[in-house]
Amino acid sequence: MKTISVLGSTGSIGTQTLEVVRNNGDIRVAALAAGSNVEKLADQAREFSPKIVCVYDESKAEELRLLTRDLDVHIVSGMDGLIQAAVVPEAEIVVTAVVGMIGIRPTIAAMEAGKDIALANKETLVTAGHLIMPLAERRHVRLLPVDSEHAAIFQCLNGERGNAIHKILLTASGGPFRGWTRERMAAVKPEDALKHPNWTMGRKITIDSSTMVNKGLEVMEARWLFGVEMDQIQVVVQPQSIIHSMVEFEDGAVMAQLGTPDMKLPIQYALYYPERRYLPGERLDFAKLSQITFEAPDFETFQGLSLAYRAGREGGSVPTVFNAANELAVSRFLKGEISYLTIADMIQGAMDAHKKIEDPTVEEILQTEKETYEYIESRW
Ligand code: NDP
Ligand code: MG
Repeated sequence: MKTISVLGSTGSIGTQTLEVVRNNGDIRVAALAAGSNVEKLADQAREFSPKIVCVYDESKAEELRLLTRDLDVHIVSGMDGLIQAAVVPEAEIVVTAVVGMIGIRPTIAAMEAGKDIALANKETLVTAGHLIMPLAERRHVRLLPVDSEHAAIFQCLNGERGNAIHKILLTASGGPFRGWTRERMAAVKPEDALKHPNWTMGRKITIDSSTMVNKGLEVMEARWLFGVEMDQIQVVVQPQSIIHSMVEFEDGAVMAQLGTPDMKLPIQYALYYPERRYLPGERLDFAKLSQITFEAPDFETFQGLSLAYRAGREGGSVPTVFNAANELAVSRFLKGEISYLTIADMIQGAMDAHKKIEDPTVEEILQTEKETYEYIESRW
């Protein structure tokens, strides 16, 4: 029986992870963590009997203690609590499904403690990939991708050990504004951008998908996970989200992984790797599927994607600036404080103003995040 810890258990990936656990019945949950949703955490604690539950927001810890007072569970909070949930001794795999750079410290702590990581929290790899990848090797821990594109690439590489990747073809749906001009996008409101054509996800990643910043983050994520150069990764728009990504090898052979858009597949694959288990749900029906179409991305309109390539090529602390600026910009856009196109302006402004640190430590990454926030707050 496997034992896991789920960081970000109340979110889109977190709840689907627990659905996979519930459907299979042979995984134990040692720890759960979330930001502030104590009602959902209490329900999850009741169903999955974890040893530790962390609510990051310290002001909510007492309420969670009350809600779970009849359960045998230890309630913790804050960054210390999140790290306790990440290193809980019983867990072999830690599912990192928190949103944003808050994932860096618990992910590193879990890896230091020798846990395999089922990695959804791409922001951690984007900003600290140069620390995470050597750490994985040093501690002999596996990074099992949960992001659907990276799970697809991971599956395409099965049995290919020793064969160099020539190119990664990272597929993108193109989001709700595919084919739009910048002029048309100027008036986009949060409720428009929160409507993704193929996937139901958390709010931040849904906005990131609409700006294609998500694809940019995924290019950087893929670069670290699969040890390739930025220029070996090509984004291909495939609006139906049927092909989840592809790998081209030296001989020109292209391997792809296909399926209906369902995050439970990559989640379950990461939890049981290399075993495949039955997964209920809709299957691809090629008789009904009339077409799979392809387009090149529009780098000029989707500036977030161009800026991500720039950040990845510049490297060092620049991807942290890209990511931090985007995190702040998206949260301000969702609050109605800035316009849609200002998201990319903020990212670019912060990147232009930044003085790069070559190999940032965790402290320098977090300091860069803080300075990026300060810079943006002072300008916008
Ligand atoms: P959601 O917004 O749905 O969920 C985020 C989770 O993180 C919630 O459980 C939230 O808790 C928790 N959280 C937020 N802040 C903190 C904090 N300070 N400490 C502890 N927990 C915190 O996001 P998603 O599930 O959509 O995304 C999670 C990650 O997975 C992101 O990095 C995203 O890019 C990635 N991902 C998501 C996909 C998807 O389909 N959703 C696909 C591929 C990758 P609370 O509910 O209390 O706020
Ligand atoms: Mg993805």
